[in-house]
Amino acid sequence: MDEHAGGRRRADPPPWSPPLQLPPDDMLLEILLRLPPEPIHLFRASFVSKHWRGLVHDARFRRRFREFHGGTPPMLGFFNSCPGAPIFVPTSGGFALSTANMSLDWRALDCRHGRALLHNYGTRTLLVWDPMTGDERYLPFPTRAHLENVHYNGAVLCAAGHTGHGDCHSCPFLVAFVFSSYRYCITSACVYSSVTGVWGEITSIHTPDSLVDAKPTALVGNTLYCLLSNEDSIIEFNLDKNSLDLIEVPYGGNFIITLAQDGPLGFASVDRFSLHLWSRVASIDGVASWEHIRVIDLEKLFAPQVLAACMDRMWPVGYAEDANVIFIHVYPRTYMIHLKSMQIEGILEEATGWSIFPYASFYTPGPGITTGGGDDQVELLNGT
Ligand SMILES: [Zn+2]
Repeated sequence: MDEHAGGRRRADPPPWSPPLQLPPDDMLLEILLRLPPEPIHLFRASFVSKHWRGLVHDARFRRRFREFHGGTPPMLGFFNSCPGAPIFVPTSGGFALSTANMSLDWRALDCRHGRALLHNYGTRTLLVWDPMTGDERYLPFPTRAHLENVHYNGAVLCAAGHTGHGDCHSCPFLVAFVFSSYRYCITSACVYSSVTGVWGEITSIHTPDSLVDAKPTALVGNTLYCLLSNEDSIIEFNLDKNSLDLIEVPYGGNFIITLAQDGPLGFASVDRFSLHLWSRVASIDGVASWEHIRVIDLEKLFAPQVLAACMDRMWPVGYAEDANVIFIHVYPRTYMIHLKSMQIEGILEEATGWSIFPYASFYTPGPGITTGGGDDQVELLNGT
């Protein structure tokens, strides 16, 4: 029978196609390189197969990945020093930290170069914690700070020589500790090295009527800046020279230290419903002075009922220089303001306006990342 003249035509067999093949490694690496910078994406890719995991975990690939994304790690969340609030709050999907077993006595002091610095006032102990790798290092306060009744602040940073801050997780670290004695009107500082395992020599400066404040610090080069409680000066700790100095601030009030994206020291303050940003600039003759660089009208950002409810209890509590985000407490909530897009996000419902320390990192193999729930991660791990 002529199948074209009345009979049903048999279906043509499907065209032959070659077996599905995964792309060669060069092409695959180019695809992986273009995944978004948040760690969850490379984390998921690492579970496709052992071969993919080898590619993703390769140090050269992860260096290329950081470079491809401009070297600026994405913000994954923030630590905070508010009693009663979760010590870590994620802001990026797929990243969570288990702090359930951590005593409530632990609070955050700093976060920088992929590590967090926590302190326990009761035991006078510091903890340097790498949330991505899970590494922990406990260290005691410097002896003099342990024996006296002191106000203190601290910072964790990569050891000298680690420029660019690519893979900070494997780098030796320093802890800078600044403390003020109630009795002697003296502020002192010293540095702990993870290589030597000891605190270095203590340097001191006379700070009458003022104590170091445990608000966020700023690091410019190898110089650390901390606020003093008199709220009109900043203490400058030069780690290379092991020396302290004081910088006056042309503003008396509740402010935080910031860093402009191109590096100079700055500070942010709130006056009524205006956010003021200042930057320290050097003149031709080398004399540094403060320059008022920006005023942001907060009445245009927040709803009238939010401003009315806060009863003027509004002040900055943290700053993320890479993300160009400032954290502001507007009683009773805390908000993130993206200074480029001027978008605002509420992040803490009931907080008392304590300090916030943003945490940012690229993917590093370790227990810090989840797919959103512990069970999912266990399933993924068991399936490989
Ligand atoms: Zn580093």
